[in-house]
Amino acid sequence: MVRMFCHDLHSHSTASDGTLEPALLVARAQAAGVDVLALTDHDTLDGYAAAERAAVATGLQLVAGVEISVSWCNQTIHVLGLNVDPRCAVLLQGLDGLLAFRDWRAGEIARKLAATGIDGALEGAARYRQGRILSRTHFAHYLVEKGRSPSVREVFRHFLVKGKPGYVRGEWADLETALGWINAAGGIAVIAHPARYRLTRSKLARLIGEFREAGGLGIEVVSGSHSRDETLHMAAVSREHRLLASAGSDYHGPHNPWVELGRLRELPPGCRPVWRAPDWPVAA
Ligand code: AMP
Ligand code: MN
Ligand code: MN
Ligand code: MN
Repeated sequence: MVRMFCHDLHSHSTASDGTLEPALLVARAQAAGVDVLALTDHDTLDGYAAAERAAVATGLQLVAGVEISVSWCNQTIHVLGLNVDPRCAVLLQGLDGLLAFRDWRAGEIARKLAATGIDGALEGAARYRQGRILSRTHFAHYLVEKGRSPSVREVFRHFLVKGKPGYVRGEWADLETALGWINAAGGIAVIAHPARYRLTRSKLARLIGEFREAGGLGIEVVSGSHSRDETLHMAAVSREHRLLASAGSDYHGPHNPWVELGRLRELPPGCRPVWRAPDWPVAA
């Protein structure tokens, strides 16, 4: 019998808000039985070169990817670019613009937290960052360190989301712009963890319509943050809208025991896997 390759097409390293260095992420993926891993750090490809060096040594197939932050209808949507050219100047310049917004936003978050009596958040969060990306996750670690909340999850709930004292509205790329970068880099655009946005049926259809119009091809059906029912729902959505179906853990590191590399549900029947796309780099 031919064994199916294990694909995990969504993961983070220390280049964004993951806690494993790219080489360690690759080693862990291989140990977990992953055959094809996409590194999809938030708004950066900085981790790719180190991951690639590690992958060559292990035989694991690495896919260059990125998870782009997009502002759409007053909310943040994440779009994966899979199999992008990691040297594409259009993509890299676009991502640099998001990095600049992140740096500005970090100052604003720190200023707002200071107004509620939490000092030193900018320096504190920066101590947790290991690459160029400064994420809300890094602020969350600092607030846990300061004893403001017992866990990262609680910090998000009480400080870092809409309506809370440390919230700053995202001003990320628009959908069309982000897809332009991914397409310029020869990648396949995939809507990440669609069930997380809590969109109504009609709003999800509208997002998919605009996404397709801009050249988007795929949707993440299996995700570390989808329940079984959400997976089945998104499988139906992928079939209805003729989108390629992707699968990824959204792994951020061993600190979250609920999510492990390669430990994913099967794609439900009738889905067309993204790794069967004609220009997919690895034989599946
Ligand atoms: P940012 O892109 O800097 O706004 O941060 C977004 C990241 O924060 C996401 O990619 C998640 O890794 C993390 N995150 C968002 N919401 C939560 C939450 N409720 N609990 C834990 N982590 C979260
Ligand atoms: Mn993240
Ligand atoms: Mn995401
Ligand atoms: Mn992610």
